[in-house]
Parts: sequence; structure tokens; C-alpha cells
Amino acid sequence: MNIVLLGYPGSGKGTQAKLLSKRKNFIHISTGDLFREEISKGSELGKKVSSYISSGKLVPDDLFLNVIREKIKDIKDNILFDGFPRTVEQAERLEDMLGEFSKTIDKVFFFEVNEAEVIKRISSRRNCPKCGKIYNLVTEPPKDGVLCDICKVKLVQRDDDKEDVVKNRIEVYKDLTAPLISYYRTQGIFVIIDATKNVEEVYSQIVSNL
Ligand code: AMP
Repeated sequence: MNIVLLGYPGSGKGTQAKLLSKRKNFIHISTGDLFREEISKGSELGKKVSSYISSGKLVPDDLFLNVIREKIKDIKDNILFDGFPRTVEQAERLEDMLGEFSKTIDKVFFFEVNEAEVIKRISSRRNCPKCGKIYNLVTEPPKDGVLCDICKVKLVQRDDDKEDVVKNRIEVYKDLTAPLISYYRTQGIFVIIDATKNVEEVYSQIVSNL
């Protein structure tokens, strides 16, 4: 089964994607994580995408869709797409790519939560720079306040989680990503998740629909 997690930045997709890949054997494809890794490696792709990410704009399709295609090609297990597709055009390209390898999207989980809530969540979101675990300083804080529970390294805030960039990311979501809601709704594979609930409750809603 191949699934897509769709929703505002900060709606909890990354947290659920990590849980699902750990507990249910999904291969997690996150375009945002992929770009951040390439930037930290200093690769050619990383250099090309960094200005888009730091300004909250979408990375142009022709810079990375072939990378996604190569990843999909070799995967035999279930795939979980997180943060991709982000436009109707990407959704169409994804369908074509999956079709080439006799795969399809089976379910799209839409994380329903309002804009004010995601802005609040993003401002208190911190990440472990080593293992990538995501914390919320208010609702899911690390045990000692500033260090990752697992790696014991100091948590960081993503540059694009800072206020001015977040505003752009939200606008980009409303203009370019939200149209995916009606695009997928008509396909009968669309599941609405109440993303205002806590991590385990959101997880249960997803698993009961797999
Ligand atoms: P995310 O971690 O999913 O919030 O993504 C962080 C940033 O990476 C976004 O604000 C975009 O600049 C870029 N990005 C991630 N996924 C995509 C995508 N599917 N298409 C274009 N740009 C993307």
C-alpha cells in the first residue's frame, strides 16, 4: 500500500511519517528531508535548492522529480510520501511515475487543522539535528527542556520555521497545495484525519484506515 500525507506545514505529517515507517514498515519519502540532507552534504542539488527553501518557495519540479523517480523505482515495500506531491502537477507526475513501475497511490491522509494552530505549532517546533526527532516545546517537550531525549544533543529550530518564512510557506500551501484536497477527494482515496488530536490519537486514526 502506498500512501500520501497531505496538510499544512506543521500539521504533524513528519511526526506521523516517522512513526508509520518505524511501526508499519513504510519507506518514508520526504522531499523536505531529502533537500535538507542534500544541503547539509553541500551537494550540487543542495546548492540549487537552498535559496528556495530558505525563502519558503517550492523547489522547481525539474530539479528533483528524477531523484524521486529513481527512489521509487527500487522500492519493493509500501511507500509513504510526506510533503510530496505539493501541487496538482506533481500529483499527476507522481501518478505517471508510479504507473511506470505498476504502482499506485492507495490512500491520501489529509491532516485537518487550522492555520492559527499550525503557526502556533511551528513557532514551538524544535528538531534534533542528529536523529531528526521532532519536538513541540509546549505539547511534546524533551525531558530536560533543550536536549534530544535520544541523542542528548541540543535541539535546533529549522531556519524556515522562523516567522517571516513561515508566512510564505503558508501562502504557498494555500495557493498551490490546497487544490490537492479536491483533486484527491474526487478519487475516492481521501481520508480526513483530525490533526488537532495528540500524536498517538492521530496515529490511531491513520492506522484504522490503512
Ligand atoms: P517540508 O519539510 O516538507 O516542510 O519542506 C521544506 C521546504 O522544502 C518547503 O518549504 C519547500 O521549499 C521544499 N519542498 C519540500 N517538498 C517539496 C515539494 N514537493 N515540491 C517543492 N518544494 C518542496
